[in-house]
Amino acid sequence: MLKIEGLKVKIAGKDILNNINMEIKAGESHALFGPNGSGKTTLLMTIMGFSGYNVVEGKIFFKKREITRIPMNERANLGIGLSFQRPPNIRGINMRQMIEICNKGKGNIEVMARELNLYEFLDREINFGFSGGEIKRSELFQIMAQNPDLILLDEPESGVDLENIYLIGGVIGKLLKRNLESHELKSHKEIKRERIPAGLIITHTGYILDYVDVDQGHVLFNGELCCTGNPREIFKCIKEFGYKECLRCSF
Ligand code: ADP
Ligand code: MG
Repeated sequence: MLKIEGLKVKIAGKDILNNINMEIKAGESHALFGPNGSGKTTLLMTIMGFSGYNVVEGKIFFKKREITRIPMNERANLGIGLSFQRPPNIRGINMRQMIEICNKGKGNIEVMARELNLYEFLDREINFGFSGGEIKRSELFQIMAQNPDLILLDEPESGVDLENIYLIGGVIGKLLKRNLESHELKSHKEIKRERIPAGLIITHTGYILDYVDVDQGHVLFNGELCCTGNPREIFKCIKEFGYKECLRCSF
């Protein structure tokens, strides 16, 4: 679904990412860990194609097609969706209009809104005056409506209280069809038959691992991937010994 080869990214002339290699197969969900400023957001913004993130070396492939230099709207149309770490407020457009743009008239807006406890927000301007948890739910609402094949989530649980983490975790698990609670109830055949999106989730707190059956974890340190492996083991190691240990240890 996603393949990144030897990616090097500069912002404003400064090296931010170096020699990033990553592969996410169809139906897989991966977690991305790393200290503040290590380049996690930069990686997601580069995959999505935001301007200012200059790819100076390497390639990005999505569904076997090279997308390194194509515009963001084409990437979105091909099936990549991103939820921001810090989404903007948008004046002059309400949530219902935004969701209609995202889902191109498909899917029931009101049913989705109720699932995310956002029914009362449909006629409000996007994110304007929303609380931290409401903003994160608004982001997931837009992703749910877009229904992409690759879902990029930048710290979906940051600034969210525990009660809302439960709601958000459940929705992300469902979006990725990797809900820890219901996943085990399905047979392998059923999982294969369904259209299961791929996911790359940046998580700082690791809470998301309680809700989503994540296949692989990666650690980004100082712009380079220093570890790839079992996400729960990696997270346990980070909690116990800190990120520095990731440089020393190899799974
Ligand atoms: P993370 O998400 O891991 O916290 P970021 O990808 O946001 O890290 O940032 C990585 C580095 O890139 C940081 O040092 C940050 O200051 C720098 N950076 C990000 N955006 C810009 C920018 N527009 N101009 C200059 N430096 C930037
Ligand atoms: Mg970030």
